[in-house]
Amino acid sequence: MLDFFTIFSKGGLVLWCFQGVRGPAATAPVNALIRSVLLQERGGNNSFTHEALTLKYKLDNQFELVFVVGFQKILTLTYVDKLIDDVHKEFRDKYRNEFQQKGALGLLNGTFDFKDDFMRLLRDAEESSKVRAPTVMKTFEQSLKSQKTVKCMIETRGEKPKEKVKNKKNKGSKKDGTEAVAVPSKASAADKQLSAAGDKEELTKDEILQKNREEFFRRHMKAGEKSRSPKPDAQKEKGKKPRVWDLGNSNAKVLDYSNSATNGSAEACPVEEFDPDMALGDKNREPGRLYDLEYESDDEAEEEKVVQNPSKPSVKKGGLGGMFGMLKGLVGSKSLTRDDMDPVLEKMKDHLIAKNVAAEIAVQLCESVAKKLEGKVMGTFTTVTSTVKQALQEALVQILQPQRRVDVLRDVMDAQRNRRPYVVTFCGVNGVGKSTNLAKISFWLIENGFSVLIAACDTFRAGAVEQLRTHTRRLNALHPPESHGGRTMVQLYEKGYGKDAAGIAMEAISYARNQGFDVVLVDTAGRMQDNAPLMTALAKLIAVNAPDLVLFVGEALVGNEAVDQLVKFNKALADHSMAQTPRLIDGIVLTKFDTIDDKVGAAISMTYITSKPIVFVGTGQTYCDLRSLNAKAVVAALMKA
Ligand code: GDP
Repeated sequence: MLDFFTIFSKGGLVLWCFQGVRGPAATAPVNALIRSVLLQERGGNNSFTHEALTLKYKLDNQFELVFVVGFQKILTLTYVDKLIDDVHKEFRDKYRNEFQQKGALGLLNGTFDFKDDFMRLLRDAEESSKVRAPTVMKTFEQSLKSQKTVKCMIETRGEKPKEKVKNKKNKGSKKDGTEAVAVPSKASAADKQLSAAGDKEELTKDEILQKNREEFFRRHMKAGEKSRSPKPDAQKEKGKKPRVWDLGNSNAKVLDYSNSATNGSAEACPVEEFDPDMALGDKNREPGRLYDLEYESDDEAEEEKVVQNPSKPSVKKGGLGGMFGMLKGLVGSKSLTRDDMDPVLEKMKDHLIAKNVAAEIAVQLCESVAKKLEGKVMGTFTTVTSTVKQALQEALVQILQPQRRVDVLRDVMDAQRNRRPYVVTFCGVNGVGKSTNLAKISFWLIENGFSVLIAACDTFRAGAVEQLRTHTRRLNALHPPESHGGRTMVQLYEKGYGKDAAGIAMEAISYARNQGFDVVLVDTAGRMQDNAPLMTALAKLIAVNAPDLVLFVGEALVGNEAVDQLVKFNKALADHSMAQTPRLIDGIVLTKFDTIDDKVGAAISMTYITSKPIVFVGTGQTYCDLRSLNAKAVVAALMKA
């Protein structure tokens, strides 16, 4: 029944292997397991699927061993967990001396004659699954129902059972969330932040975002760039005025052309009103360079505080400080057990959730860290503390550095050599910043000497085409043909509203090819992940036009919601595509990073769930507010107590 069972060291040495009669060789699936799970810190559950196989695995952290069993995924083998546990125990006990005394050399020279033991354990495990006693039905007296009184089953009008009230509350809050997302989702996300930040309850949403943004600039800017930190608005006017993000330039005006007041016709937004300084943001930056996200780590901040106020003790309360402090209670020389770690893991999980990591992912991450540490022998107290912290940090960095890197400039140059435009499609729900960040990416490409054709394929939302028209005009004002040898660096391909988006994208791509544009950026209409007809249309647009890169645009403001959007977009693209191997999302643009302070969990959630890289990070509303992800900076923010 089993296809294979293999035991290897974490260093990659195969110690023993059982190969089933007709099963496939263990090499390919085990390599996939190592690449996609063990090296990627996704060891939260013990199971992995590779093609037609299910792989179950167990780690022995004391002797650095991995036990893997493979079987056809259509089979339900109830004894596999027992088998893997039994084999683990028996193998470890039988060869303990080899592992302890001879080290790696012992493993190399050792002969692990384990076949008979394995066959015995396999037989036992199979037998035990067969002889399980049939379950006897409970009598009424034994059931919980018999203990209920008639009174407790009667609902009194106006007074709802506790459970129901709670559910209703949840439903209500979910509904609020979806409604808010349908219009720009800023409000819903800000609501979440509002409730998350207990001490900020009395501030308005705008004030919270402004505060977060100030904090963001304080932390994320390099020393030389610190002058760019925003100045607080002197007085805030209430009402529907667009928010002004001051980016170190007191004359700055918003780069938000998404509402009808500014994004209408050319007259509604005359060229002469445009302030290039505003759109450019930081003047000291190097043109065309995509800067990394910067984050002032907790340690540095702490050091700074100590220098400023040497008398103040730097003891931190709660958060990770408290969490890791708890580990000091562990006994130094014994190996870590699950019981030792459970309270710490619980705190760790809460900390991650508070930082906006999706709940389910926080659980899996902690599980993965626990699996990595269980059985590890700790030397001293300090080693315990640093080991746990390091395990979590390593896991987080690993998650943020997915296997496939996207190098847009290199790929554009490749396409250029093949005399064809490089095509990028942007998708996501409404209001997340698709058009704005598409414009920032256009600007970055132009600064790198590439010409851009923007395809206005959001033929649905009123003002969408005009918004892109405004961006195009402004980008052209910043990079006029005169400064590029008479070459128009950016142009808009538009066909108005109500037309077939896939068709417009196709026309735009062939226009770009004829006119010699280097890149086509396709803007698509925002859509909710559950809207099947719109998702089918998006899948069609992608299938028909085969873009080089499909980018999902998501806000950093949302936690669980972002994961839901991303998963459903990916699934919908797979489900609604007619192609055999459907095109899915290739990468992520994480927007509004400037509004979340250190609640950077969405970055972790999104990459964890899809293994897709975050290609760009939007950090504001000027054309220069585009960054590349710096895993270490994000992890530093996440670990901050
Ligand atoms: P779309 O509906 O997805 O195309 O979203 P828009 O591009 O119209 O952007 C919606 C709002 O988000 C606008 O007010 C943008 O200015 C704003 N926005 C977009 N990206 C960012 C960002 O990185 N930071 C901030 N603070 N605001 C952003």
